[in-house]
Amino acid sequence: MRFPFALTAKIAGHIIKHKLKRTPKFAMVLQLEPLHTCNLTCTGCGRIREYSTNLKDMVPIEKCLAVAEECEAPMVSICGGEPLIYPKIEELVNGILAQGRIVYVCTNGVFMRKKMKDYLAAIYSPELEPALKRLLQEKLISDKDAQTIRKADDKARAKAVIRPTRWMYWNVHIDGLEYTHDLIVEREGVFKECVEAIKMAKILGFQVATNTTVYKESDVKEIEQMFEFFSSLEVDGHTISPGYEYDAAKKDMVKRLGKQPEDFFLTRKMTREKFANIQEWGEKFTIFGTPVYQEFLAGKRELTCTAWAIPTYNIKGWKAPCYLMTDGHYDGYHEMLAKVQWDKYGVINGVARDPRCENCMVHCGYDPSGALGTNYQRGDNWKNFSYNFRPKPKPYYAGAKVRAFNGVSIGKGHLAEANAAINSPRAAMNGAQSAFQRREEPHEHNGGGCGTGDTGQREALLAKIAEAKRVE
Ligand code: SF4
Ligand code: SF4
Repeated sequence: MRFPFALTAKIAGHIIKHKLKRTPKFAMVLQLEPLHTCNLTCTGCGRIREYSTNLKDMVPIEKCLAVAEECEAPMVSICGGEPLIYPKIEELVNGILAQGRIVYVCTNGVFMRKKMKDYLAAIYSPELEPALKRLLQEKLISDKDAQTIRKADDKARAKAVIRPTRWMYWNVHIDGLEYTHDLIVEREGVFKECVEAIKMAKILGFQVATNTTVYKESDVKEIEQMFEFFSSLEVDGHTISPGYEYDAAKKDMVKRLGKQPEDFFLTRKMTREKFANIQEWGEKFTIFGTPVYQEFLAGKRELTCTAWAIPTYNIKGWKAPCYLMTDGHYDGYHEMLAKVQWDKYGVINGVARDPRCENCMVHCGYDPSGALGTNYQRGDNWKNFSYNFRPKPKPYYAGAKVRAFNGVSIGKGHLAEANAAINSPRAAMNGAQSAFQRREEPHEHNGGGCGTGDTGQREALLAKIAEAKRVE
């Protein structure tokens, strides 16, 4: 099975319960953002920019647990910001698990190994030595880390920790191979850290998924290689979604400068081109999400947005209408369901009810539509059932040969290129582009983030690097 039976049964039971009760709208996945603080500043991250005035604010843990109870979603995706910065993340994960929900911790991966070392310290006994030996051999922990784990004091042993369970996934944000990913997150070394964290997690028995956003300039071949590589690490599944790109300023540029939308936006047409192979990927890799949503992404059918099924709660309340767009915040989930005019949003038969929805095909708007039977076509239920119940694709061990470390690890980090561009008048003439293109495999990537995808910020990144250089 692609998704463990107990988890599938939980989600299916939730849908059946509400279908029998004829509940018109209900939550499937809660996107819980306990804070918007992050240790990274990814190009195009909507979260750290939209909520930039209150990065220090946090949702109290009691409230986080209460909103999960309130919306009754069987799955909670803890995101942010970087959720591992949340001071009570362990208590939060354990509290939601205790409510009987499935938990995804959506992380940029940088603090994962630290959290897993805390876990090892809390549970240390001599039986753990073979695992420690392997972690040491694979250089996933240092000798000093091993000593700290072995000598854990009462405080370390009493600490709340995140433990492996089939009800929880680390969901690691990866937007490409090393060069691309480090470029998008604007820090060299993050990809390598993510790979090491994933390897460590698998050794310790955690479930791990990767979470990828595809942008206008994402290279489809590279995305496939990325799946191959992470499949070779025995990652348990992959979430993939097109980036979302609405921006009044860009619309304005289209209007004022007479440029084509394709110059700026990942349009529906472009999304369909990028996702043309999604069904093949679904056969080869453990892609999470329904085959109905995959058909939608590949342009084989239409779906109606069901954003209410993946509601977002953050420091300002229940965010409406969706994870991406903000037209208001509400105090209660049911209040939001009642007050939002849902029929103002989405795209029906190719016609956008709100111009901002025009190019949106994101999973948090449309993946639940596939599971909930909106736009039902004969055979859909069987399709969804058989996709999940067929044997899980085997790890693609040949993916170990992918040149995943094609950036800073081989001396080709993006900062080096950007610095070269800044220092060379000739390169500078080429502007930001020279800092963002591979020489031997020309393609460019911009945008990135935990769900949004505001592109066109390459110049800003280059300027930032130049500024940092001036300060040095
Ligand atoms: S179509 Fe996309 S942007 Fe519009 S409401 Fe649905 S999820 Fe949000
Ligand atoms: S995209 Fe995610 S990891 Fe990057 S800055 Fe935003 S919240 Fe942080």
